[in-house]
Amino acid sequence: MKLSRIILLCLFAPLSLIHSAHAKGKAKSFPFIPGEYVVRLKSEPNTKSLNTFEDIALQLQKKSGLKSSIQVRHFKTSDVFAVITAKELKSAIALLKSDDRVAYAEPNYLFHAFDMKGTPAIPNNDDKFTQLWGMQNTGQTDAAGQVGKTGSDINVVPVWNEGITGSKNIKVAIIDTGVDYTHPDLQGNILKNTSEIAGDGIDNDGNGFVDDVYGWNFADNLANGMDDHNHGTHCAGTIGGMGNNKLGVAGVNWNVSILPIKFLNSQGSGSLESAVQAIQYATKAGVNIMSNSWGGGAYTQSLYDVIKEAKDKGILFVAAAGNDSNDNDANPSYPASYEIDNVLSVAATDNRDQIAVFSNYGRTRVHVAAPGVKILSTVKANDYAVFSGTSMATPHVAGIAALMLSSNPSLSYSQIKDTLIRTSDKVRGLSKKVVAKGRVNVYNAIHGIIPVDNTPAENLWKDFSFSAETPHPYVENKTYQFDVSVSNAKYVRIVFDAIETESGYDKISVKDGNGDEVENLSGTYAAGYTTDYVVGSKASITFKTDGSLNKNGFKVKKVQVIY
Ligand code: CA
Ligand code: CA
Repeated sequence: MKLSRIILLCLFAPLSLIHSAHAKGKAKSFPFIPGEYVVRLKSEPNTKSLNTFEDIALQLQKKSGLKSSIQVRHFKTSDVFAVITAKELKSAIALLKSDDRVAYAEPNYLFHAFDMKGTPAIPNNDDKFTQLWGMQNTGQTDAAGQVGKTGSDINVVPVWNEGITGSKNIKVAIIDTGVDYTHPDLQGNILKNTSEIAGDGIDNDGNGFVDDVYGWNFADNLANGMDDHNHGTHCAGTIGGMGNNKLGVAGVNWNVSILPIKFLNSQGSGSLESAVQAIQYATKAGVNIMSNSWGGGAYTQSLYDVIKEAKDKGILFVAAAGNDSNDNDANPSYPASYEIDNVLSVAATDNRDQIAVFSNYGRTRVHVAAPGVKILSTVKANDYAVFSGTSMATPHVAGIAALMLSSNPSLSYSQIKDTLIRTSDKVRGLSKKVVAKGRVNVYNAIHGIIPVDNTPAENLWKDFSFSAETPHPYVENKTYQFDVSVSNAKYVRIVFDAIETESGYDKISVKDGNGDEVENLSGTYAAGYTTDYVVGSKASITFKTDGSLNKNGFKVKKVQVIY
C-alpha cells in the first residue's frame, strides 16, 4: 500500500514536465519518473531462491555503492518485466545493462491523454444523435458554431440500416483513464469478467488480478477500470454508446463488449510501467482491438515488445497520431509511430473534412483520418460532453474496426487496416497528410468499395521554372509572400528544396487563387517535398514567422503544372 502511494505522488508531480516538453524553444524531451527504470530480463526469472530481479537490484547496489535502498516493483502481467527504483543514481541504466541477465532497461516514461483542454460540457438532453456530425453530417453546426459540410462523416448510417449494428462477440479494450461502466448509455456494452466474483478478495479466475470484474486500474493498482477523469468514458461512447435505446448518443457499435483498462491517472497521465501492463492485460484477455488515445513518450523497447505480442495474437492496435500539429514522418510520435503491422494510426478531421489544426499527420506514417473536432460523447456520472483531439478520432476508427469484425469475424488486423486505407473517401486536403489520402468510410469498408481517385496522373505534370526563397536563416516576426501564376494552367503545385521551420510556430501556407488553403507546412521536410495541387492557374505561398528561433527556412525548387 505504501508503495502505491509513492507511485501516485510521482505520477502527479511530473505533470509540469509534460507541458514543458512542448514549451516553445525547448529541444524535444520526454518526461519520465525520476529514478525509475523498466527492466526486462532476457529469460524467465529464477524464483526458486532469491528472485532474479531482487538479485539484480542487490548487485546494482553493490556496483553503485548507493546507500539508500534499491526497490523492485514486479509487473502483475509478466515475470520478465519489473520496475527497479534507484533514486539518486545517475548511471543506473548503464549499470543495469551491464548485468548479463538484463535484456534492456529504460526510463519509466510518462504518457498523457490526447485531448485538447478547456472544452466545456454541453447541457444534457434526450436526443443527441443529431449532434453527432461524425456519424451523420447533414451540414449541422458543431459545438463551436462551424457549419458542417454534408457527408463529411464516417458514413455509418447506411450500414446500420442494413442491420449491421455490432456484436457482443467483439471485444475492444479501451486503454485510457478508465471507463464509467455504470453510465446508462454504456453499461449494456461493458465486458464483464463472469469468471470473477466481485469483492470476495479472491482471484477466482486465476489471471493474477483479484476481483477484476470490469477490467483493471494500473494507475492506482485497483480492481476495475472505473474512470476518474472522463477521457476514457468519452472514447467508450464513440466506440459503443448503446444505440437505439432512447438515450443520449449512439456509438459506431450499438452492441459491443468494451474492456475498460485504466493506466492514465485522474490527471490523464500514466507511466510506461502501467502502459506495458495495460497492453499485456488486454492481450491476455483476448480482445480483438485495442483503442489507444494517448502518447507523448519516447520510443521504448518495452512498448514495442508488448504491441508486438498483441500483433502475434492477431490484435489490431489503433493509436492516436497526437495533437502537436506535427509531421510524424519527420518526428515520430509513439505509440502511433511504431512500425509494427498491427498499429493503425489516426489523424483527426473537422466537420468540413479538413485536417484538425492540432492533428499530427504523416503521409507515410499516419494511416487514416477520422472525425475528431467537437465530438459529443459520454462522460462519467451519466453525463455527455464535447471533446476534441486525435483521441476522439481514434475510437471512431477502433469502433469501425469492431463493426467490420461483427459483420465478418474472419477479418485479420491487416485486412482491416488495408481496407480502411483503400476505401477511405479521397479528400484533397488530406492527400498529403495520411496514407489513406482521405477520411474513413464505414459503408465503403464493409462493402469493399474503393472510391474513385480524381488526382491527376503523375506523368501529366510539367515542370515550370519558378524561384522563391527565404533568407537563411529567416527573420522573426515577418511575413514572406510569394505568388505563382501560370497562364492557362489547370492545376499548379509547388516543389520545395528542403524546408526547415520552427515546428508549430513558423508556418508556410499554400493557397489557391481564391485564398483557400490547400496545405499548411511547419517543421522539417526532405528535399523534393511536393505540395498538394491547387485548381486554377494561381497559387500563393505565405510564410509567417514568430518572435524567436529562426531556422534555415526554405527554397522553392520549381513549380509543376498541368495545362
Ligand atoms: Ca482475476
Ligand atoms: Ca473475486
